Amino acid sequence: ATPTAIMVGSGLGARRGVLFKNATALETAARIDTVVMDKTGTLTRGEPEVTDVVVDGIGDAELLRLVAAVERESEHPLATAVVRYAQQHAAADGADHTASGFRNVPGHGATATVAGRRVLVGNRALLAAEQVELGPLASRRDELAAAGRTAVLVAVDGRAVAVIAMADAARDTAAAAVTALHQAEVRVVMLTGDNQATAQRIAQQLGIDTVIAEVLPADKSAHIARLQAQGRKVAMVGDGVNDAPALAQADLGIAIGAGTDVAIETADVVLMRSDPLDVPVALRIGRGTLRKMR
Ligand code: ADP
Ligand code: MG
Repeated sequence: ATPTAIMVGSGLGARRGVLFKNATALETAARIDTVVMDKTGTLTRGEPEVTDVVVDGIGDAELLRLVAAVERESEHPLATAVVRYAQQHAAADGADHTASGFRNVPGHGATATVAGRRVLVGNRALLAAEQVELGPLASRRDELAAAGRTAVLVAVDGRAVAVIAMADAARDTAAAAVTALHQAEVRVVMLTGDNQATAQRIAQQLGIDTVIAEVLPADKSAHIARLQAQGRKVAMVGDGVNDAPALAQADLGIAIGAGTDVAIETADVVLMRSDPLDVPVALRIGRGTLRKMR
């Protein structure tokens, strides 16, 4: 593109809070035919809230004390939601527990010892790795996931005792962004560490037909590379630390402005308003810039 076209393009973007870090980013934006979007924090607000707590063989108050002790040690957004819920529902008489031997299991959950008991908080894979059977909680978990809730499981001393369901509202313009991308003949893919049923439900609400779920943080970039190997020109949109390798792998990395510093530093484009609608806007500005150069 000519220097003038690039100045016009980056100026247009800047006015909307769409920051292109360099001229190449603007030119690449014009050639994108596939947009991969992280779910949590990108398509959704990334502020999950506990909606249901289903217990089996443990009291609510004791469950919340054990789980909160583990999740206080974690920085995961789901952990923050659990801790907040536990504070709001704390029994007046129960003292807080502290966790020892905390271990974060990326993409799966967390474990620790609390009040002499071994507590696991996370997804099915986390429990399966320790041979914990879900038992009667399995059907409740499936129902909640099918409804689009992120279902977190809790095991104490090798026994499944609870399902904690969380909802993370879609960003207001997420569905409109998907529609605009489809109109521009761009394929949209959801990429998430969350489970298949939950991801499918949210994708369906937003009009996204391709879902890649239950992806470990370390594997996100491999999925981008696979699409590129199929000849796609891929933009990745993400907010999290775990999205950074995928943002780097993509032809165009797009970071949500409200996201983590690592994502913002790694990306080629930053959406300052954290608005999913600015994804189609960024591609349109790129296409306009390229047209001016011909
Ligand atoms: P996402 O890509 O949606 O941000 P992650 O890859 O971080 O998800 O985690 C994948 C799944 O692992 C979560 O949906 C959840 O079931 C489980 N998980 C991870 N960390 C935690 C935690 N601290 N507490 C509860 N569950 C967790
Ligand atoms: Mg995210």
